[in-house]
Amino acid sequence: MAKRDYYDVLGVGKGASADEIKRAYRRMAMKYHPDKNPDDKEAEAKFKECAEAYEVLSDAEKRQRYDQFGHEGLRGAGMHDFSRMNVEDIFSVFGFDDFFSGIFGGGGRGRRSSRRAGPSRGFDLETTVELTLEDIANGTEKTIEFTRQDTCSICNGSGCAKGSSPGRCPMCNGTGQVARGGGFFQMVSTCGQCGGSGQVITNPCKKCRGTGRVPKKRTLKVKIPPGVHEGQGVRVANEGEPGRGGGPRGDLYCYVRVKPHEFLRRDGSDLIAIVPITFTQAALGTTIDVPSINGTQGLKIPPGTQYGSIFRIKGKGLPDLRTHRTGDQLVQVTIETPSKLSAEQEELLRKFAETENTRVSPESTRFFEKLKKHFGSH
Ligand SMILES: [Zn+2]
Ligand SMILES: [Zn+2]
Repeated sequence: MAKRDYYDVLGVGKGASADEIKRAYRRMAMKYHPDKNPDDKEAEAKFKECAEAYEVLSDAEKRQRYDQFGHEGLRGAGMHDFSRMNVEDIFSVFGFDDFFSGIFGGGGRGRRSSRRAGPSRGFDLETTVELTLEDIANGTEKTIEFTRQDTCSICNGSGCAKGSSPGRCPMCNGTGQVARGGGFFQMVSTCGQCGGSGQVITNPCKKCRGTGRVPKKRTLKVKIPPGVHEGQGVRVANEGEPGRGGGPRGDLYCYVRVKPHEFLRRDGSDLIAIVPITFTQAALGTTIDVPSINGTQGLKIPPGTQYGSIFRIKGKGLPDLRTHRTGDQLVQVTIETPSKLSAEQEELLRKFAETENTRVSPESTRFFEKLKKHFGSH
């Protein structure tokens, strides 16, 4: 899931001007355009990667955040989810309808004209939400701040400066259609300049530069259900971008990132802790406190516990998102050998070793017998 450097994706230098970036994106978008690479999944992925890079590098604020903090800096920046969009939608995000429709044949296989004909749903947005294992165990509510496009309040989304209205499109003379070719095979297709509406903005609104939309910060409380996993998206309906022509808003997807826990590791709905004990505790047995998801938890260590033994504490794991069944906690013990011995401890251990010479454990007897058989005795 490693993301590539956005400058590399577009093949431009770090100091590239806005114009260079725009040209680079157009070049790459043409190269990987699905119409030129039919049924090529790799080209499609590259096409969408370029769109993502362009979204960031063409926006002064996002570019600055990216330059300063890398991909991390874009968390909550309100990025479009290009994986869910078709080509037409991706280009219209960047206001590129005209340029590309000219190259790829007007109506773009009819998608554009159908989009412009009636109301259409707004685009989905995505952001990241960072959770602790505790959040996942109990469920939580997170406050999320992101930037999204909203209807411009100055022009009410029309894109026209105050007191002006759209004028007749000079390309199609207001008909919304243009004829291509000549002679017998004259093809009529949707006008690339006005998108078939027959009207263009002649005096654009200064606030939104004729787009009808302005970026706006939005703060939102999002409920996260217990048991979610890394990379999962929590959908918040109707918090994406506004639709066109009165269409509904898109959705917001909050993708989960799990912060590493100091003591616990997740394995499905089980939690794993690795806990060190001393060799005397292992030999004699004891009760220890082990870290668990909601505070510490007592665990009985039986006498004669071996290195790497795993103990299961039932029902102290994480809930499953669908079944709501709670997993277990597993505790694996490691045994620490003392590295510094006091004179008294050393004496005791030497005495202990002497007793071991007469009464060795079955396992080591087998080991030394095998060793003798293999090499012969001296
Ligand atoms: Zn406006
Ligand atoms: Zn037109």
